[in-house]
Amino acid sequence: MNYQDIVNQQRQFFNSNATKDVSFRIKQLKHLKKIIQNNEELLYSSIYADFKKSSFETYVTELSIIYHDIDLALVKIKKWAKKRKVSTGLANLPGKSYIIPEPYGTVLVIGAWNYPYQLSLCPAIAAIAAGCTIILKPSEIPSHTSSALTQLINQNFDPLFFRVVEGGVTETSNLLKIKFDKIFFTGSPSIGKIIYQAAAKHLTPVTLELGGKSPAIITKDVNIEMTAKRLVWAKFLNAGQTCIAPDYVMVESCIEDQLLTAIKNHVIKADYDVNHHNYTQIINTKNFDRLYNLIDQDKVYLGGNGNLKERTISPTILKDITFSDTIMQEEIFGPILPILSFDTIEEVISNIKTLPKPLSCYVFTRNKSVKNKILNEISFGGGAVNDAVMHFTEQSLPFGGVGNSGIGSYHGKYGFEAFSHYKGILQKPFWVELNLKYAPYTQKKLKWLKRIIG
Ligand code: NAD
Repeated sequence: MNYQDIVNQQRQFFNSNATKDVSFRIKQLKHLKKIIQNNEELLYSSIYADFKKSSFETYVTELSIIYHDIDLALVKIKKWAKKRKVSTGLANLPGKSYIIPEPYGTVLVIGAWNYPYQLSLCPAIAAIAAGCTIILKPSEIPSHTSSALTQLINQNFDPLFFRVVEGGVTETSNLLKIKFDKIFFTGSPSIGKIIYQAAAKHLTPVTLELGGKSPAIITKDVNIEMTAKRLVWAKFLNAGQTCIAPDYVMVESCIEDQLLTAIKNHVIKADYDVNHHNYTQIINTKNFDRLYNLIDQDKVYLGGNGNLKERTISPTILKDITFSDTIMQEEIFGPILPILSFDTIEEVISNIKTLPKPLSCYVFTRNKSVKNKILNEISFGGGAVNDAVMHFTEQSLPFGGVGNSGIGSYHGKYGFEAFSHYKGILQKPFWVELNLKYAPYTQKKLKWLKRIIG
């Protein structure tokens, strides 16, 4: 069956209004949860086959997030989907105003490879909650996880409602020729531009969850041990292949040496090794080569070792880095952490502002005015104070980028909103009418109108 036929059939199903029924959505969400629970072993083994991701990390960073998203949607869906009454201005009284959340329709979700389950399924969960029908195109790069997702969804869901389409550039390009009612894309800024252009041809709304260089700024007054511990976990999780991993560190120069020592100690303590099931492989040799070439061996403070056969790069810390180094010219997306030092916070802000707006920004400080200055003056998607990455797990926070790092957001109710149109309705009774707006226009009517509508 060609893609256009699949979309046509889904649209027909959407137009039957079956998905408008909240109990239908609840049933589908519960069904999805059951399927995942019953197939956890397949999900663990597939992701391990792709890049040796351990079941521990897979549960913590993929499955638990999917389960939380489903559970939250199940609790909140009735509230999110409800018609919302809002206030009505004097000119329209005694009318009433309300907002009706309306599912966009037939949507396309395109996933990235680095967290292949949750980056595909969490947007799909939001789309189900909102009442859309879904075509999901997971990343083709982790081929085992892509086929596991296809098997689980396509064998257990009606294709009229939810279907996975596997493929790479050719298949995605063909899908993008079709008119969807919404496209939700996770991936790189460069491919994001291709998606945006394709969507523009049909005036299709988009959410673009992109990447970038996310800084971690550390001032002299921090708890150095705790800062290093949190940074090391956030950076080397998934071997640095995390869109919101701290891409680089800017540390106040007077504590640089202490921070480097603390980071080194925490890396040693964690004992990262694929064979210990606490470190993943680099996804493919193309990325291995790209990352390995980014390491300036003259600036290696720790690590710097690559093993092409194992497709691993040891946790690597680079020091004495400046904004003109090669490593500062692109998103790293791997286990290499450059450390830059600074003397004034103004210098930090002006340097970060020369780069595209980051997806995340982390500030480690006890200084309230420094914290406020960074939060107020740097534009970025979202972030954390005295931690890194964990803001992603807060379902009450919108997750998304700004500028080069993305358009729109999701998680929790923001995910529901990403797949909904909010229809604003004014409802009037017949029994009364303010006649002032009708012709013939007179000065007297205008005077009264000014009083009423201002
Ligand atoms: P990518 O942009 O290469 O691929 C993403 C998706 O686009 C895949 O499904 C792929 O098949 C498809 N694709 C690739 N080339 C295409 C083309 N020419 N035309 C149409 N579709 C195409 O990204 P990736 O390598 O999978 O992921 C890494 C990037 O994603 C990083 O920049 C990272 O920061 C970002 N990312 C962002 C988030 C987020 O939530 N904001 C999460 C994960 C990754």
